[in-house]
Amino acid sequence: MGGSFAVKERPWWERWLDYLYVPSCPGCGLVGQYGLCAECAGEIKPLKISFGASFAVYAAGWYSGALKNALLRCKKAEQTYLTYDLVRHMLSVAVYGGLCSEPDWKGSICVPIPPDPKRYRKRGFHCPDLLARELCRQFLGWHYQPKLLQLTRSLKSQKLLSRYERFLNVQGAYQVVREIRGESILLIDDVITTGATLIEAARAMFRAGAVRVAALTAVASAHLERSGFTIEEITN
Ligand SMILES: [Zn+2]
Repeated sequence: MGGSFAVKERPWWERWLDYLYVPSCPGCGLVGQYGLCAECAGEIKPLKISFGASFAVYAAGWYSGALKNALLRCKKAEQTYLTYDLVRHMLSVAVYGGLCSEPDWKGSICVPIPPDPKRYRKRGFHCPDLLARELCRQFLGWHYQPKLLQLTRSLKSQKLLSRYERFLNVQGAYQVVREIRGESILLIDDVITTGATLIEAARAMFRAGAVRVAALTAVASAHLERSGFTIEEITN
């Protein structure tokens, strides 16, 4: 488990189709627009979800409208060039949340939530990994380490599970491959739904010696509004 998460090489004719493809805004469909147009981007509400005093998740916005469409296009239609734009919005919430400027977070290790190997083989790419890699390409203060966190067993898909079952499903499912005493860790995922996966991954990081852990996601599910966790909008 925990092999390379590199993007599968696509055939030449598929890459040619990309050249013929006419881009459009994932929010309003504005033709000729790579990523979100200024108007759709202006409607995004960056968020911070706090799970107690020691762990918080920062999301570029809610899983709705333009951000939702951008993520779906990225995952389902393999328009992975949209990671560039999603990451711009993730970096924006990171900047306003202090993750890019505070000395504690400088030099953080960026770790994507590892994929289930079966689903990864089927799709050929892993969205959290693409996001983590692009984040470290756009912001030089962080280091990309995709193999630091690994799954200890295969997981059921979280999609059809209840909130309680999701927490049970991931219990003890992550291990850190080396000691990370004193390190700051940024976990990267595409979506936070109940927080079960990210909380369990953060636990594994703290157990391995991390001094601080936060997570950064592209979107947050509306399920969180009923979870009782503290949610605040981050403004500049
Ligand atoms: Zn638009």
